[in-house]
Amino acid sequence: MTKVAIIRCEKNENRCPLTNCFKCLSENKQGFAGYSGSVLVGVFTCRCQGENVADLAKILKSKGAEAIHFCTCMFANKTDKGWITDNGGFCDHLDKIIEQVHEATGLACVKGSAHLPKDYELEILR
Ligand code: SF4
Ligand code: SF4
Repeated sequence: MTKVAIIRCEKNENRCPLTNCFKCLSENKQGFAGYSGSVLVGVFTCRCQGENVADLAKILKSKGAEAIHFCTCMFANKTDKGWITDNGGFCDHLDKIIEQVHEATGLACVKGSAHLPKDYELEILR
């Protein structure tokens, strides 16, 4: 059972209550498909420009998180044809934030959660 945490973007916090993120986590699908079982240990919200995230990630680690997932809407957007990475998502510097979190915690950092874009290969910093 892998203990998983999620970090989301403040730009979406009043629009999406992470419904599909939680569904995929509980069913081990999409970004969580690599786990034979997973349990959520916590969720935090990134605030622009992301200076808070490394500290938040350390707290998630202290709560037992073994992997931190970053929501798909941070780097992809929804179109008539599904979710795509063209034109990005809510954050234009997510890769830098993920690197900072990985450096601060040493945890697996996974770029993606629910509804992964077609042909997107899950990026994981280990
Ligand atoms: S990835 Fe999807 S389900 Fe998760 S917070 Fe973003 S919009 Fe909501
Ligand atoms: S830094 Fe990026 S992920 Fe964080 S709140 Fe701002 S846009 Fe969202």
